[in-house]
Order: sequence, then C-alpha cells, then structure tokens
Amino acid sequence: MRAMWFVIRVAQEVATRLGLREVLFRTMQASLMSRLIYIPFDQLNRDYGAMKIAHKDSDHIVLVESQRMLTGRQWHRQRLQFLVSSARHFADELKHEGWQVTYVHSATTIEGLRTIQEQHPGAELVCAVPNSFKLKQQLEEHGATFVENNFFLTSRTLFELWAQKQSTFTMENFYRAQRKRLAILMDGSEPVGGAWNYDAENRLPPPKVHDWGPPLYFTFDDIDNQVASEHSEGAWGKLEGKTWGTTRAEALAQMKHFFTHHFKEFGPFEDAMPDGSWSGHHSLLSPYLNNGLLHASEVVRAALNRFAEGDIPLSSCEGFARQIIGWREYINGMYWFLGEKYCDNNSLNATRPLLPLFHDPEKTQMNCVKSVVSDINERGWTHHIPRLMVLSNLALIAGISPQEFLNWMREVFVDASDWVMVPNVIGMATYADDGVLMTKPYAAGGAYISNMGQFCKSCIYDPKKRTGDDACPFTTLYWDFLDRNSETFSSNHRMFQQMGGLRRLSNLPDVKDRATQVLEGLDAGTI
Ligand SMILES: Cc1cc2nc3c(=O)[nH]c(=O)nc-3n(C[C@H](O)[C@H](O)[C@H](O)COP(=O)(O)OP(=O)(O)OC[C@H]3O[C@@H](n4cnc5c(N)ncnc54)[C@H](O)[C@@H]3O)c2cc1C
Repeated sequence: MRAMWFVIRVAQEVATRLGLREVLFRTMQASLMSRLIYIPFDQLNRDYGAMKIAHKDSDHIVLVESQRMLTGRQWHRQRLQFLVSSARHFADELKHEGWQVTYVHSATTIEGLRTIQEQHPGAELVCAVPNSFKLKQQLEEHGATFVENNFFLTSRTLFELWAQKQSTFTMENFYRAQRKRLAILMDGSEPVGGAWNYDAENRLPPPKVHDWGPPLYFTFDDIDNQVASEHSEGAWGKLEGKTWGTTRAEALAQMKHFFTHHFKEFGPFEDAMPDGSWSGHHSLLSPYLNNGLLHASEVVRAALNRFAEGDIPLSSCEGFARQIIGWREYINGMYWFLGEKYCDNNSLNATRPLLPLFHDPEKTQMNCVKSVVSDINERGWTHHIPRLMVLSNLALIAGISPQEFLNWMREVFVDASDWVMVPNVIGMATYADDGVLMTKPYAAGGAYISNMGQFCKSCIYDPKKRTGDDACPFTTLYWDFLDRNSETFSSNHRMFQQMGGLRRLSNLPDVKDRATQVLEGLDAGTI
C-alpha cells in the first residue's frame, strides 16, 4: 500500500509538470479506493454493519451530515446534539486510528454521497441495510450495495418466519421464543426460576422515601461545544449540561453505571413515576443502542454476567432481558413486517390537532403532564410509563391525530427512530392499527397515574372525580373515550370489563358535558 502511494506521489509530480495533476491523481486514487463505506448516524459501530467488512488500507469511510436531517422541524436540541456529536466523534476516532474518513455536510444524504462519489469515480458504495424504509429506498435507488444489518439480535428474515406462523402477534410469545433461541435465562427447556415473567413483582408504585441515586452526567468536549454552537435555530428544548454521552467510552460508562447502581431495583420500580428522580432505576441506554454506540448483545451479556454475581433479583434481570431481547427486537421486527404504510393507520378516526401543551408545559394545569413535558424539554427523554400512560394516554383519549402525535414524539425524543417510534405510537400507544399489535388500547383514567406516580398530591385536579371543575381530565376523558368508541370496543372481549363499567355509569351525560369543556380547555391551553 505504501509503495502504491509512493507511485501516486511520483505520478502526481510528473502530472503536475504536464498540467494534468488533478485528473491523474483522481483516476489513480479511484482505482485504489475500491469501496466507499457509508455509515449512517444510527450505525456508529466498528464491529457491526458495513464497518465489519471494511478494510483500513483500501476502503474509504463516509459520513454525511445532511441539513434535511437537522432543520425544517422543531427538533429537540438534545436530539440534534446527541446524533450529530456522536457521529462527529465517531468519524474523528476512526481518523485517529488511521482510517481514511470523509465527513461531508450537505443538503441531503444522497447529495452528500454524490459529492464524495465524484471525488472517487468508479468506487463502489457499500452500506449495511438501513434502519428505515425511507433511507433503504433512497440508497437502493442510488445504487448502493447492501451488506447485512446485524444491529439487532433477530434478522428481518427470522422475524418474518416467526410472524408468519402467528395468528396474533403477541410479544410474550415472541419473547419466550427468543429466550429459547438465544438460551437466555433458560434451564434446559424451562425458564430459570420456573416462570417466564415476574410482572406481578415488577409493578410497584414509587415508595414515599427511596434513594434513587444520581444519574451519570458527562462533560462537553471541543466537538460537543462546536456542535452545540451550530444547531439552535428553530430547535426546541434545553441543552444545559451533557446528559447524553457522545462516544463509545461514554456509552460504556452509562452501561456500567446502570449495572452497578440501578440494575438491582430495575424490575420492581420499572413502572414507577417518582417525583424525586427523572430517571428512576432505568438504564438510559436506548439512545446508544439506537445509534449503534452499544449493541444489544453486549448489553444482554453484561446483564447476565452481573446477574451471575448473585445479588441481583431474578425479577430485575428477567424484566430487563425482556426489554432488550423481547420488546426492542419485537418492535423492530414488526416495523419491517407491517410495512411502510402502517404508519398511516388511524382506525379510531382521531383527528384532533396536537395540543399546545406538548410544546409548552405552561399550557396545562395537569401536574403529571406539565411535569413530563418539562422533563422532555429538559433532556429529550422520559421513561416508558410517562410516554405510554401520561402522554400517549392523553393523546389517545383526547382523540389526537396519531400522525400528529407521532411527528411530535419523533421530534422531541433523543432516542427516536422511525423503526421504534412507528410501532410504539401507532400500535401500542394510540391503538390506531385496530389491535394488530395490542389486544386492547392502553387507556386509563387518573387512578392509574395517581397510583404509579407522585403527581396528584399537589395537582388541582382530583383523579377520583369525573365531573366538576376539579375533575381529573384523564378520568373524564377516559369514560368519554370509551363512549365515543363503544361500537368498536363492544366486540373486543378484552374490553368487556371496561364496557361493563361504562354501561353502569350513572351520570354519563354529565361526564360528556365535562369532556366537551375539557377538550375545549386542552385546545385553548387552559386545562
Ligand atoms: C409511545 C412510545 C414511544 C416510544 N418511543 C421510543 C423511541 O423512540 N425509541 C426507543 O428506543 N424507545 C421508545 N419507546 C420505548 C421505551 O419507552 C424506551 O425504550 C425507554 O423508555 C428508553 O429508556 P431506557 O433506555 O432507560 O429503557 P429501560 O427501561 O432501561 O429499558 C431497556 C431497553 O429496552 C428497550 N425497550 C424497552 N421497551 C421498548 C419498546 N417498547 N420499544 C423498543 N425498545 C424498548 C430499549 O432499548 C431500552 O433502552 C417508546 C415507548 C412508547 C410507549
């Protein structure tokens, strides 16, 4: 290789004298650079995807920072910071290790790739199969060669084989098959401990007094500072301090922090919404798993190794493994299995525009919603239960357009990607797919939030009340939602109990009057 570069230099010198320097250099360079290895911002890993097959000596690594990805919508500053700074750090680290890397800024991804290809005529463009329908199609049309996407534990083909055999797509069935296939927490053909799940032990409300421990924070370096100074126009949310690491080393530090300080109590408090801690005992690993800085296999391995030390309850280890090998893989599998048009579903015909409170927490007096949206404004993240039982529940029972809600969620979460947002929002959260993913909607009144959170004590609304000025909007809208959709839900046997409750409701007309006021107040930003 060194000899070849020496030949190029000599040829350059000769060509310069003949006035042909640029043309000759590019031609020779192209013949040596056999491949351009394109790394999207969600595949930042040396050992997986296209990097796995790349050669330091001959391949050229390409990253594209496209303006389309960064502007045009109200992206959260934390999200832009995390994605861009992680990519720049990744490119920088590869350069220091001796890779040939081009990091290009351009209007769109394809335009950026075209620019680099012009500098390397004839070089093959190689990429791991992308994580979204859109990028996959764009790269296909652009003529990229795909290699395997091994960022998940379950290939798309394998998932499809599973899904084709199912009459309903129950996550629990998929999860059990994963446990067996991957031999995780198995004792022969039986689950370790004798049970497949410990949900009953894992749904504790937040205790009145509990030491949640501080989350791990990081320190901005020069690259972080540079990125922070660039991406603020039109963006939403705060960017104070570094909550999200932007390097592999920081992602590993977060993983270590979780397994050292939080894993033990992850299970029991998985669903709890405490007011003294924004992160509880959650891992905070989703951003790194989703942009490639961590791989699911190393996270599961670390969990099992930590469990083997003997002081971690099985309920915590099982609960965590369920998220990684179960939910995460299932959601990705379903995204590809259900196809690109799935995101347009709106089976409950929900058409209300996005409420003002989603962009401004001051536009609501509901303590839970105000607190959760403020948390998101602060750091672009909140855990699963506030996403599902506060934000999505509100969107569902207020009849907000699933597509408007989906777009908002995509913009404001640091860990949002198409493959994970679409099934979670369209299927799990808003039941817009008519029950393809979930057997019943995740709709709840204020009682659930009161039980699992610590918001209601100081709220002006009373979760037990469904009528009157101080009735909890969740409680009022819950009954109104069941009534509005009673025709659809009456044939769903899993909704039998709720629909029975609706029929027994003595003051439904009053509830519906209050619901009208609540919806008007939500639209006006006064409730
Ligand atoms: C409406 C809605 C939208 C969501 N959007 C996203 C999203 O854009 N990106 C995202 O990564 N997760 C999303 N989730 C799933 C889940 O809320 C987050 O993965 C989790 O809160 C991330 O925090 P954590 O890493 O501390 O997770 P933990 O509670 O520590 O769980 C560990 C890991 O399990 C995985 N996981 C758990 N549940 C899910 C799930 N339902 N789907 C996919 N992975 C799961 C994640 O990788 C997570 O990091 C969404 C859930 C809902 C209900």
